[in-house]
Amino acid sequence: MPSPARVRRDRAAVRVLVADDSGTARGVLERAVRELGHECVVAEDGEEAWELFAQRRADVVISDWVMPGIDGDELCRRIRAADPYAYFVLVTKLEDREHLMQGMEAGADDYLTKPVDRDALAARMIVAERITGLYRRLAEQQRELEGLNQELFRQARRDPLLGQVGNRLSMREDLERVERRVARYGHAFAIALCDIDRFKSYNDAAGHIAGDDVLRAIAGSLVANCRREDAVYRYGGEELLVLLAEQHVESAAVAAERMRAAVESLGIPHPSLDPPGVVTISIGVAGGRGTDDGAADATLTSADTALYRAKQAGRNRVEAESPGD
Ligand code: GH3
Ligand code: MG
Ligand code: MG
Repeated sequence: MPSPARVRRDRAAVRVLVADDSGTARGVLERAVRELGHECVVAEDGEEAWELFAQRRADVVISDWVMPGIDGDELCRRIRAADPYAYFVLVTKLEDREHLMQGMEAGADDYLTKPVDRDALAARMIVAERITGLYRRLAEQQRELEGLNQELFRQARRDPLLGQVGNRLSMREDLERVERRVARYGHAFAIALCDIDRFKSYNDAAGHIAGDDVLRAIAGSLVANCRREDAVYRYGGEELLVLLAEQHVESAAVAAERMRAAVESLGIPHPSLDPPGVVTISIGVAGGRGTDDGAADATLTSADTALYRAKQAGRNRVEAESPGD
């Protein structure tokens, strides 16, 4: 008849740490654990067990209760605090009921009585393997969920049509963050509000699908022509907002002029201009004013007023806010 404590090869091996100050008990446990097909490391006392565990975690810890230095109770508390998933099996003498309860309260998952019976150990190891497997799967699922969450967070802040630029949600969040930094540290920021010139007639002549391609090309050009610290968002239908970090209105207007010129030099023919021409944008620039709630909104209003002036002045140009805005 095969021994009930035979090696179970159908399950994944677990890493077992055995702690016992008795050489004989240690040897018996180590041999039994290995015969069951598991990896085993041994420690001569609680101190060494803790060091080994801290260096490289074990899935299962089988520990004597009475040991010099760190005893089973203290070792169990430390391991529980460091790794809630380690399976801790306490080894006590049969008559030692008091320590047994103390150990279970300290966080032990199970116990064995001395002298350790092989079948009892094999039974504990089956449970330990199952629990360890469940924890591993749980940890894996947790990691996957965290990854998915991050991806969802990212997607929820991107504009679905333009992909590489942020949407209104991310714009709001970033503006509020910038606003707080202005109020607290006096940092500067500026906003460039960009609007495609005569886009309605572009759509009417070339079709909405072609219009979408233009919008994407312009968004890409703005992203390529701003600094890494700056960010581009879709503000509305064909309006894009560039948030320029640490910039005052004067330098932001220079940057905006670079962006305007870059869009013009894309050379996208506009089918309904007379005389013929290319697709262009107008930009209104305003410097961030801080110190109170809603400062970003006030900056947005100023940029909008400046944009209106750029349209009135003939389009394809940059206008910065004026003191009267
Ligand atoms: P202006 O120079 O004064 O800005 O003229 P405009 O024609 O661009 O201004 P208007 O506000 O009258 O029209 C904006 C147009 O932008 C209307 C709409 O068809 C187009 N538009 C808005 N969102 C999208 C979009 O997602 N895709 C496409 N293809 N067109 C869009
Ligand atoms: Mg518009
Ligand atoms: Mg427009």
